[in-house]
Amino acid sequence: MGLIVQKYGGTSVGSIERIKAVADRVARTRARGERLVVVVSAMAGETNRLFALAQQLSDAPNPRETDVLVATGEQVSAALLAIRLQALGLPTVSFLAHQLKIITDSRHGGARIRSIDGGRLRAALDGGNIAVVAGYQGIDPAGDITTLGRGASDLTAVAVAAALEADACEIYTDVDGVYTADPNICPRARRLERISYDEMLEMAGLGAKVLQLRSVELARRFNVPLVVRSSFTEGDGGTWVGQEEEAMEDVMVAGVTLDQNQSKITLTGVEDRAGLAARIFGPIADAGMVVDMIIQNARSADGRTDLTFTVARGDLRPALELVKVVAGEIGAAGVRHEEQVAKVSIVGVGMRTHAGVAAKMFAVLAAEGINIEMIATSEIKVSVVINAKYGELAMRALHDAFLGDDPGAAKAQSA
Ligand code: ADP
Ligand code: ASP
Ligand code: MG
Repeated sequence: MGLIVQKYGGTSVGSIERIKAVADRVARTRARGERLVVVVSAMAGETNRLFALAQQLSDAPNPRETDVLVATGEQVSAALLAIRLQALGLPTVSFLAHQLKIITDSRHGGARIRSIDGGRLRAALDGGNIAVVAGYQGIDPAGDITTLGRGASDLTAVAVAAALEADACEIYTDVDGVYTADPNICPRARRLERISYDEMLEMAGLGAKVLQLRSVELARRFNVPLVVRSSFTEGDGGTWVGQEEEAMEDVMVAGVTLDQNQSKITLTGVEDRAGLAARIFGPIADAGMVVDMIIQNARSADGRTDLTFTVARGDLRPALELVKVVAGEIGAAGVRHEEQVAKVSIVGVGMRTHAGVAAKMFAVLAAEGINIEMIATSEIKVSVVINAKYGELAMRALHDAFLGDDPGAAKAQSA
């Protein structure tokens, strides 16, 4: 008898009808004799609704109280699913984070899991129960409620699977797998049969929200077999995320991603001397903001440089405030920003062995008349920053150039 962790996302439990459908699927899995833990997200839209309520009462809601508030979404869906499963005659127990001792640090809104006590879950399973777990939430060492970051019910599922050494962690969502690009933006995107942890990590980090970034990190670290499937369709399709296989290198590009949630800040006329980058980025890092791409341009005329970097759009205002202070202190000429930029990336382990990928990418964008503002590369990805209004166009053009015309090139086919 296997042990399976299934996770159902917000759309999958978005209505009473959907919860009934999920319960039916759980019942079928159970009928195959599997031991089963089911992790659920809040009903679609609920977490946003709760955040918006707090915003109506305060410009800066207290993070501890915000977590008390937004963690309720998952509590509701866990209870509703347990009630339905019991109505179908299946012994079921629901659990919140404090009952499973999902201990995190105290970073409200983005807490990291430190440990999970699998004992209570194992006892429930040993007693013949299905366990339903509220995703997204934890408790800190003081017992306060924390949340793990947006989309992090995926992380709860993988963490529970790792703690119980489950045979598989199945992520059920509104698409039937990981595609070569977001299928809601790219009509020609194709489902991948398999993708490596490394590629999935890059894709998740670069905007493919089908799996939450840290859930992929954790799955890789603990070697949790992960599969993404649709809760809306039947069939065993889906995408397996796992260790890299040799055949994966035959494919140059596995996928194209788009992150439309970026902003760009430029300090102009910065003196070109040691220590200035540390002066600029130190305070931003101390404030917990992540700087993504950085470029520095030497200006031949006056020996000064321009320094440009990107941050998540939500961090633009606080980052600008910090940068303006530093700019004054170091005598920079000015600070400019562009609120709406997009980052488009191509990802694939095959890039390690294929030359010319970046050059082809730039040619495709040039043919569309899209100006590239910044470029970053790593072993298995090339990212460019462009004006946000061309984001979807760029994604489609790159997808079709790298993955559209030659179906034989896609892993979907070769697998
Ligand atoms: P859930 O609520 O189930 O967690 P999400 O909305 O977080 O679902 O993730 C599913 C969505 O991810 C899809 O509807 C799709 O628009 C988006 N997505 C982005 N990139 C990809 C990709 N490469 N493959 C599949 N889906 C993707
Ligand atoms: N409900 C949370 C969110 O909307 C967690 C999740 O859906 O995974 O971010
Ligand atoms: Mg999600």
